[in-house]
This record gives sequence, structure tokens and C-alpha cells, in this order.
Amino acid sequence: MTDGEALRIDEETLSSVREALVSWYEADHRAFPWRETDDPYEILVSEVMSQQTQLDRVVDAWEDFLDRWPTAADLAAADRADVVAFWSDHSLGYNNRAKYLHEAAQQVRDEYDGSFPRTPDELSELMGVGPYTANAVASFAFNNGDAVVDTNVKRVLYRAFDLPDDDAAFERGAERLMPDGRSRVWNNAIMELGGVACEKVPKCDEAGCPWREWCHAYETGDFTAPDVPTQPEFEGSRRQMRGRVVSTLKEYDELALDELGPRVRVDYAPGGTYGREWLRGLLEDLAEDGLVGVERRDGDTVASLKR
Ligand code: SF4
Repeated sequence: MTDGEALRIDEETLSSVREALVSWYEADHRAFPWRETDDPYEILVSEVMSQQTQLDRVVDAWEDFLDRWPTAADLAAADRADVVAFWSDHSLGYNNRAKYLHEAAQQVRDEYDGSFPRTPDELSELMGVGPYTANAVASFAFNNGDAVVDTNVKRVLYRAFDLPDDDAAFERGAERLMPDGRSRVWNNAIMELGGVACEKVPKCDEAGCPWREWCHAYETGDFTAPDVPTQPEFEGSRRQMRGRVVSTLKEYDELALDELGPRVRVDYAPGGTYGREWLRGLLEDLAEDGLVGVERRDGDTVASLKR
């Protein structure tokens, strides 16, 4: 399989998909303090802490840790027993992580002249730093990482682009999606998408997912994923109908109500339960979310996709 087959979208769509996600992330995201820094030590500490602990709880521990040992050099000079005690006092999970972090700081001091290495390969030479953490530090500190592929990212790619449940396909798809030289913002953004919108029970509309226009799951209503083997329970039918409206409008410049209706539901009948009133309600919701434009023209309602 080639890269092109792993992600069946053309270059023009690809650039719209990228731009939509980056703008969505930049407009609003959870404000974790380690997202405000590009210091590799601070980022490494946050990554190691969040391997075991919920992100909200990591914030206090991370701040306390950096108050106590503000730089890698400070940590390298610390007594290991103090670092381990800090770890236990803050309920941060396996104490080995504290030992490894201490050791990694000493490696930076002794083997790298006090400056962190900048590539994922070199970073993974540090004690306790696996490929995922190495890539996260390379991305967030040095904007020098590969595309992250974790469980959340796989779920997003599987749903949005109908990728097969296959690690090599996820890797290729994720790499093709990531804009060159933008691993810092991209990896943050796609992980945010998996964390607040494309969760196991997806919040496509509530979270204003920027990929609804292209998303295969949103269009078909099948929100299963590798880690979500059965259809998640949520207010499915309305969401699915919204998806159909969007995907139908994608194929036309504009459609009047009675042209759109039968393409969304086979049982559409202008005066029926699933008729004009129902469709107008759906369109108004979509208009409020900024996805669809609705106009009154010659006594009719005409809808088009906002681009
Ligand atoms: S539209 Fe929904 S299912 Fe598709 S990527 Fe967005 S949140 Fe996930």
C-alpha cells in the first residue's frame, strides 16, 4: 500500500484538513502550562508524569516539581531519595519513573554537556524515555518530531479517514497528514482532537470538530473504532442526519429544502414528521455552528455549505 492509499484524499483537501485542525486548536484548547513552554526539561517532566496520572492532577505536581528543581542541572544534582519521596508524596505512580527522570537529568549533564539532544532517536537514549516520550519532547520542545500515533490518534484517523485497523497504515496516514516542520502544533492539535472531541463517545458537534465536513464516521453514523468495538451510545440519529446534510451539500452548490430532504432521508415528506420543519431545525443548528449557510429566497429555504 502506498501513502496515497493509506489516506485517500487529494492535496487540496489535505491542505484544507490541516488548516481546519490547526485553526480549531489555536482558537481554543485546554491550557496546560507545559503547552506554554518549549523547555525540553519541563516538557519531559510533564510527559513522564502524565504517563500514569490524569492531566488535571499533573498540573500541581509539575509546578511543585519545577519549583523544587527548576532545571535539569538542579535535578541532576539532587539526592535521588528526595526525588523518589516527591514522587510518592504526589501519588505519581511507579517510583521507578522518578529514578529514571533523575538518571536522565544526569545523562544530559554528563553525556550532552547540559543541553538536551534534539531528535527522537537521541532523546530515546535517555533513561526511561521510550519512543513516544522521545517524540513528544522532540515535537513540543524542538518542533522536530514525527507524527504522534497513540490510541487517541488511531481512533481519530480510523473514524475520520476510514483507515484500516493496522499500525503501518496509521503511521503512514498520520505522517502524510502532518504538515512539514509543524510537529509542535500538529501533534498537540490532533491529540487535543482525540482528547476533547473524538473521544470514545464522540462529541462531534458539541466540540465543534473541525473535520465534520470530511469525516467518514460523521457521514455514515458508524462511530466504532479500534478501541470502541461497539457503536457508542449517544444521541445518534440527529447527529447522523446532520452528517448526511453536510455530505449532501458538499456535492451541490446549494439545495432548496425539498431537494435536500429526500437526499437526507428516504422517508422525507414535506409536511410529515421528517419534513420541512424538521429539516429547517437541523439546518438552523448547522448554521449556528457555522457549517451551513441558510437563505430565504422566493419563499423557499436554500442551504449551502459554508466554505
Ligand atoms: S466528526 Fe466526530 S467522529 Fe469525525 S473526527 Fe470529528 S469528532 Fe471524530
